[in-house]
Amino acid sequence: MDVMVVGSLAYDSIQTPAAQGERLLGGSATYAGLASAANDASCGLVGVVGEDFRDEDRALLASAGLHLDGVVTAEGRTFHWEGEYSGAMGEASTLNTELNVFEAFDPEVPAAWTAPTVLFCANLHPALQSKVLNQCTPTRLRMLDSMNLWIDIARPLLVDVLRRVDLVVLNDGEVRMLADDANLVRAAQWLHGELQPDAILVVKRGEHGVLAIHSSGLLHVPSVPSPGLVDPTGCGDSFAGTLAAHLSKGEGPVGREELRIGLEHAAVVASFTLQGLGVSGLVAMEQSDRDERLAALRALTR
Ligand code: AMP
Repeated sequence: MDVMVVGSLAYDSIQTPAAQGERLLGGSATYAGLASAANDASCGLVGVVGEDFRDEDRALLASAGLHLDGVVTAEGRTFHWEGEYSGAMGEASTLNTELNVFEAFDPEVPAAWTAPTVLFCANLHPALQSKVLNQCTPTRLRMLDSMNLWIDIARPLLVDVLRRVDLVVLNDGEVRMLADDANLVRAAQWLHGELQPDAILVVKRGEHGVLAIHSSGLLHVPSVPSPGLVDPTGCGDSFAGTLAAHLSKGEGPVGREELRIGLEHAAVVASFTLQGLGVSGLVAMEQSDRDERLAALRALTR
């Protein structure tokens, strides 16, 4: 297996200035898995859904090529997240989080999946991320994402898992919050210093692109000029899932150029995610359009 993802499978109720929808298929593992599969990685999901999880949603995940043996169905309802975006839609405001089946979830990695090339712990309670880190020995890379909620309510556990991985991907607000420093470069450098030696820190900055700290120094990749922003939900997860897929193709320590190329592809895929409500923009993505956007992005910096 190239990429194993643990994270949430969710129903999302979303309001943006451009669209709104109730109980749409979402979740950090859903977006990350769909993006990994769209980048030619064999990808398995570990997570939990409730008895209300719709057959058509399971079918959508399976037809994208995702392996679902690690997704258990538990008694109760699927995790439900309600979020709202306003203005430039830079950040979601969480209106409501119903953990539902996640409250009693104890992740179990299928025996055949314990040595993926890349393990991606997508946004989830850090205690659950830790349980999956305990069960897996990826052959190349451990990646991890998180969110402001866990910095607020589970900071020591989060710091513990951050120190156990090779690549951390967070957004700028989360990095500032963790470092308690409004200066982003200084905050990122502080956080990088707290990670394992040679770990990579990727800081997503929304429309301003991405800043990464690699052992060779700082790296910047812009975001892709995108025609229509409808719903940014899942941009971060599809960005990270794409990066995971690209890094699953290499060997040894991640090189600077390899990282840059992975980040460029990740930015392109995220630009499709935000074009549609829920997963629709990501699912509808066409290769020819991706090639065009990659060329446009490279023209900005190369
Ligand atoms: P992002 O890429 O940051 O926009 O992630 C959006 C996804 O995160 C949504 O589909 C939500 O279902 C999911 N999500 C929101 N809150 C949580 C949480 N506390 N734990 C796990 N997943 C969450």
